[in-house]
Amino acid sequence: MSLDGQGFGDLIRAWDGVGVVLSFDAPTGTWIFIAIHDDTLGMALGGCRMKVYPRAEDGLRDAMRLAEGMTFKWAAMDFPYGGGKTVLAIPGPLESSDKTGLLHRFGELLNSLKGAYGTGEDLGTTPADMREIATVSEYVIGVHGIDDGPSDPGPFTARGVFEGIRSSLRHRYGTDDLADRTVLVQGVGHVGGPLARLLSGADASVLVSDADADKAATMAGEIGGGIVNPDDVYDTKCDVYAPCAVGATLNADTIPRLGCAIVAGSANNQLDAPEDAERLAERGILYAPDYVVNAGGAMAFTLVYAGERRVEELERRVSEIGNTLDEIFTESTERGESPVLAAARRVQIVLDRAKSGGAD
Ligand code: NAD
Repeated sequence: MSLDGQGFGDLIRAWDGVGVVLSFDAPTGTWIFIAIHDDTLGMALGGCRMKVYPRAEDGLRDAMRLAEGMTFKWAAMDFPYGGGKTVLAIPGPLESSDKTGLLHRFGELLNSLKGAYGTGEDLGTTPADMREIATVSEYVIGVHGIDDGPSDPGPFTARGVFEGIRSSLRHRYGTDDLADRTVLVQGVGHVGGPLARLLSGADASVLVSDADADKAATMAGEIGGGIVNPDDVYDTKCDVYAPCAVGATLNADTIPRLGCAIVAGSANNQLDAPEDAERLAERGILYAPDYVVNAGGAMAFTLVYAGERRVEELERRVSEIGNTLDEIFTESTERGESPVLAAARRVQIVLDRAKSGGAD
């Protein structure tokens, strides 16, 4: 892998981010990419993904793309953080002691950045991994625990999605009463599970679907909901489709089939391509931009990192996602544009205001 030519250099030069810290961890054969996209609002903050990539450049590209997404997430909620992300591009599964060594060396790399970037859990890393990094570095969020107990961002993300669904209902129907509404939750994991419970508790009619049929059956049994076969999700009639499993479920194939009026869920990168936002609008389907609606876990963890431990206060702050979406939907209607464009403009306004020293 060259550092220039067709390798990392071209990718980094073409990027509009602040910069990328690259390190090769020789003992494990792992490329470490810390991508810092924007630091206008504060310290760059975003999770640490550990994954095997076909090529090292794919890991670098992922880090840069994800860091940019974090810039949007923080700015949309006007939180004082910048966009960053780490990818640990491992060559294959690591032995436990090798992984511990890698995490310690990554922690030392974090320290060398002196607070320019903070990390947290992401795909392929666990709360235990974060605690390991935290033994050598203070720049780790999500290890502090709430009420000294174990912390999981899932329920906070679910709370934000729940408020996002209510905001979407308000905008679409003039009321956020869930009693006569049917919500289809795709994926009942760390986010979809708590979300299904919240919806059921608010008297919604809940349909669940999961690639793991046992998980779907258990959740449906617990909340008295229905089960939808994973292949039938996009053709099922419902008021709200909540994608809480994988990305790119909104695409040229699925959008014409959707039987919902609203899409609001936690999955990252729900749109397969930018033009899918217009495809949804043309079908009259209201779309809650993913990086706004799924920010709850990230918000709660940074508040805990800053010292907040009261769960009610964390939930109150996360619930502000509903107000933010109200504003985005109203602006999108007034301007006759998709909520995706309205959310992007909001991000730009927050960043421009900070760059100009807070003046409007
Ligand atoms: P998870 O792994 O706990 O749960 C995902 C669930 O989806 C699993 O039960 C899995 O069996 C199921 N699934 C996978 N592929 C599926 C498919 N094709 N059809 C139906 N079900 C499928 O993950 P999670 O933490 O609940 O996160 C869900 C999504 O939300 C992910 O896209 C994640 O990136 C995003 N997200 C999560 C958080 C968080 O706080 N956990 C925050 C922001 C965004």
